[in-house]
Formats: sequence, structure tokens, C-alpha cells
Amino acid sequence: MPLSFADLEKAEGPASELVLKEELEETGLSREFVLEVMRGRLEVMRKAIERGLKSDAPSVAGMVGWNAKTLWEAEDPLKAPLLKRVQAYAMAVNEENARMGKIVAAPTAGSAGTVPGALFGVADHLGIPDERLVMPLVLAGGVAKIISRQVFIAGATGGCQAEIGASAAMAAAAVTELLGGSAEASVHAAALALQNALGLVCDPVGGYVEIPCVMRNGFFSVHAVSAAQQALAGIRSFIPPDEVVLALAKIGRLLPPELKETGRGGLACTPTAVRKVQELGGTPPCDD
Ligand code: SF4
Repeated sequence: MPLSFADLEKAEGPASELVLKEELEETGLSREFVLEVMRGRLEVMRKAIERGLKSDAPSVAGMVGWNAKTLWEAEDPLKAPLLKRVQAYAMAVNEENARMGKIVAAPTAGSAGTVPGALFGVADHLGIPDERLVMPLVLAGGVAKIISRQVFIAGATGGCQAEIGASAAMAAAAVTELLGGSAEASVHAAALALQNALGLVCDPVGGYVEIPCVMRNGFFSVHAVSAAQQALAGIRSFIPPDEVVLALAKIGRLLPPELKETGRGGLACTPTAVRKVQELGGTPPCDD
């Protein structure tokens, strides 16, 4: 039987070990090979963060490209360095994506910033070396795999809850394990993050993964860290984690097509979005 969240939360050691065991059994690959692949993924994420924080080059449609750098270089009146770092890292990765730079889909390109934002953001804040992120990233992959067995991880089928919600769940579990949380805590961090993304619609302006996607990754990287903090403190999801995934799948089916990446509703049909699409030479498919 494929792993469920219920299996994962009963693991005696770190949840990532159970995920890795399943992966090795399914693929026949060696442990060393899989971990080396994960190191490679981390390196791509790290480089995307570094490039994104320095660049203010506009994205393909010109709606984003400078936000991560702006936040990163701004004064911080809140005196909340973790908050700023996590958001800036996440947005840096997504602005790289919007410029067609190299990123790691985690689980998708549109939601690629949340996991590196939260994971590297927390690690750098606490001075944790990158090597210690390898197993938490394995766990993040396992979380996505469990969710993807119940729902297509795509805004076009499940709304943004299926993309950014999944990325926040992955990030929350990974951060929890990184900070020494039990398997149970990691799984519940994922569930807490996921249940608070339910219902989120996919409405990118002009179909470009720019607005609201870039800032949304910033917000949801913080959301993931909050879920990890709650789980590490002992808070658990009242709804069992696997049931949260089922709720996500049902909500995805209930969402109207207008709110699933069709450009026919939500932010994509606001007057400003319509004007922008027309400027780009397109015809917005909005009804009014
Ligand atoms: S709004 Fe749609 S395109 Fe943008 S991140 Fe969410 S699911 Fe992806």
C-alpha cells in the first residue's frame, strides 16, 4: 500500500526516512543516488534565490521582477528578519520563474518559491548548513506525493489550493523536521498548512504566472513556517491529515471553471487585469 499521512505520522524516526524507504523500493535506485539528486535540487534552489534577490529585471509580461529585491533591500520597520528573509527568498525564486530562469518545481513552477523560501529562509536565519536540508527536502517530496494521489496538483484542476496549498504543506513538514520535530509533528504541520489554503482560487492575470503568484509564494512561505511553529509547539490538526487532503480534492471539484486558471474570473477579470491583457495584445475571456 502506498504511504498515507496516517502511516507517516506513526514513523518512529524522522518521517523523511519512511518516504525515502518507499522511494527506494519503488524505483530500485540507491540511497546515495537519491540523496545526491536532492543535493542537486537544493543547489538549484539556492542559486535561484541568489539570482532573484539581486535582479530587478522585469518578467516576461512585465508585471513582476523587482519585488524580491525591493523587499530584501528595504528597511525592516517590523524588526522581523525571519519574516523578511523567508518572503524575499520565496519571491526571488518565483520571480526567477517568471523571467524563465531555472528553478525547481516544488511541486509546480508557479508554487516553486514556497519550499525554498521557508526551508532556506529558516536555515539561514538559524545558521543551519545546506547539507541538513537534504532529508527535509525528501520529506517535502513525500508530502507532495501523498497529496498527488488524491488530487491533480495543478491550478487548472484543483485551484491554487492544489498548488500553493501543497507547496505550503511540503514546506511546513520540511521545516518541522529540520527543527527536530517528530514525524507526527511534521505531518500535522503539513495538514495545518494545507487546511488553511483550502478554497484558494487560481486566477493569474493574463495566464502569466506573475500576479498574484509571486507575492502569494511569499505569503505562503510564511504560512508554512507558522504551521511548523504551531506543530512544534504541540498543536495538531483536529481533522486527520489524510481527510484534509480529501477535503482539498472535493473543493477542487466544486470550484467553478472560472476560478481554475482559465482567466475568466477572480483577479484575472478585474479592470486593471483586463487592460493589461489588452496592452499585451490579448483578448481577456471575461464575461463582463
Ligand atoms: S494562482 Fe494559479 S498559476 Fe498562480 S501559483 Fe496559484 S495555481 Fe499557480
